[in-house]
Amino acid sequence: YYEKIKQTERLKISGQLAAAVAHEIRNPLTVVKGFLQLNEKDPSVSDDIKRHYTLMIGELNAAEHVISQLLSVAKPNNDQGTETVNVKNVLQTVTDLLHSYGLLNENNIELNVIEDCIIVANPIEFKQLLINIIKNAIEASEIGDSVKITANMKNDFVEIKVIDYGQGMTEAEVGSLGTPFYSLKSKGTGLGMMICYNIAAKYKGTIDIQSSKGEGTTVTISFPSKNNTIGSKGRI
Ligand code: ADP
Ligand code: MG
Repeated sequence: YYEKIKQTERLKISGQLAAAVAHEIRNPLTVVKGFLQLNEKDPSVSDDIKRHYTLMIGELNAAEHVISQLLSVAKPNNDQGTETVNVKNVLQTVTDLLHSYGLLNENNIELNVIEDCIIVANPIEFKQLLINIIKNAIEASEIGDSVKITANMKNDFVEIKVIDYGQGMTEAEVGSLGTPFYSLKSKGTGLGMMICYNIAAKYKGTIDIQSSKGEGTTVTISFPSKNNTIGSKGRI
């Protein structure tokens, strides 16, 4: 019970922090993007340089996307529309997306979803949650290691497991997950898991972490299925 309170308090503080940081970063990004767009259209600029501008604008769009995600989870009344989401399709889209980003060149994703699992959520948020968790699994893995993903129905819940055989975490490290800016990576933001916990909480879902240092990690994401009347009325 105490752990639950701690988690709720942590989510609240995380949300406030996220909103503040997102706000401060959004404005400078908009300014930089504006100038890049001007240069991209400049007829005196060579095609080669234009390609660089296009790439930079793409990256800024990605950053803007994360920021609006942060703002939307930090402010619960700023409601994003929900719809029926087919978990199997989203998992396929997400792994394709990670492939196209070149993130999976050295790791193999084994996707194993037999049944259609349907939930109700905002598809962009749900996709974001999966991307963050699968990216962590890949980043924790050695070259050549596989990451396994399964999804199936468990009573009235859809259970997704992301399993990696990478570096794993100690109990203390698992306990720090979701704290804003907690990252052990040189280029990490330490915001990924916080976003995941916020999104899961919004849809009465849970994220459970089983990890063992040096052996790997299993992340279990559980969301109420579409027909789960308890879930849609509010669990916990
Ligand atoms: P970031 O990925 O930017 O560091 P996250 O919030 O996504 O931020 O993750 C926080 C930290 O948790 C990571 O830096 C890493 O140390 C640890 N972590 C998360 N997922 C895993 C995993 N699958 N295996 C090992 N460590 C992990
Ligand atoms: Mg991450």
